[in-house]
Amino acid sequence: MKPTSSQKNSRILSRIIIYLMAILIGIVLGLGISFARSSYGPLPLLLFLLWAYCSMLLHILLHETGHLLCGLLTGYRFVSFRVFSWVWIKKDGRIRCRRHSLPGTAGQCLMGPPDLPPDKMPYVLYHLGGGLANLLISVPAIVLAVLFREIPFVFALLMIFGAMGILFAITNLVPLNGKVANDGMNLWMMRKHESSRRALWVQLKVNEQLAHGLRLRDMDAEWFHYPPLETISDSITAFWVVCAESRFMDEHRFAEAEALIEMLWDKNIPLSEVHRRLILCDQAFCALLAGRTEQAAEILQERKQQKFLLSMPNFPMVLRTQYAFALLAENDSERAQKFREKLDLLRDKAPNQGDWESERELLQFVEEAAEIK
Ligand SMILES: [Zn+2]
Repeated sequence: MKPTSSQKNSRILSRIIIYLMAILIGIVLGLGISFARSSYGPLPLLLFLLWAYCSMLLHILLHETGHLLCGLLTGYRFVSFRVFSWVWIKKDGRIRCRRHSLPGTAGQCLMGPPDLPPDKMPYVLYHLGGGLANLLISVPAIVLAVLFREIPFVFALLMIFGAMGILFAITNLVPLNGKVANDGMNLWMMRKHESSRRALWVQLKVNEQLAHGLRLRDMDAEWFHYPPLETISDSITAFWVVCAESRFMDEHRFAEAEALIEMLWDKNIPLSEVHRRLILCDQAFCALLAGRTEQAAEILQERKQQKFLLSMPNFPMVLRTQYAFALLAENDSERAQKFREKLDLLRDKAPNQGDWESERELLQFVEEAAEIK
């Protein structure tokens, strides 16, 4: 159940780089603001802070647009575009707005893979597109800032925007492992492992089909034939196994899902932190349905898992697990009802209705188990 030591080292290194970058950008922002303040007094400080926040939003948009354009240029198809928890998703030829979020990511541009075999799929430009877009806009902004240095207000605005973009570019392009792997890390893994290129193809294909309303169990079974577990050494290929496990859950093959989860822990598969935590939710859910409430409590009440559950208050799978735990382990129907109501509220905003249908069926299993009790 523990991350591998190379994953831990990579996470520590990622944190150090991010902190160093944040300090550096902080110094640049501070210099820009104090430069402008010396000419205009303290009043614009709030304005500059607000501009720093707006710059961050603009760079998230630019980043995802960069992925989108580079994807379209290399034959990918638009599936969804997310900024924070707002998702624009293409369904039946129309773009609709839905709600969804994933910790560790501020945005996400999902696309369907080009109609090519997985080993022929172009992936470099699609992955670099986001960071390149930040870089291509930030460098001219910094050059302009230097040109306009005689006008402190303009200098500060351009410098803040430029510095924010450079921070985005570096934290996305330099291979880092946070809660999820960044673009640079994904690219590095794909260049290194043939299996991760095939895994990415499957992941993109699955996302595209989910967006079209299909369920995992309705998809081509061949897509879920992941490579032998002992050969998996990167988080993209590891996510392939997560897809297979989720498919077992969708097919209500709980014993097989549990057995696969056990194998994931046994082989110490390098899952990303978010997927590790979500898989633990499924493991606890299966234990609850089988009446092993102590095992479920041990998983869900562990400190880091608790923190994770609190960080994902609007994630259907997390709410479903909490609902099952409240009803089957805590025998607290009032608390369970609160999770149920929250789930019902999320239903209309869910990006994938197929996913929701799957969740609804799993909730029925919980209710049946509660009746038997
Ligand atoms: Zn990106």
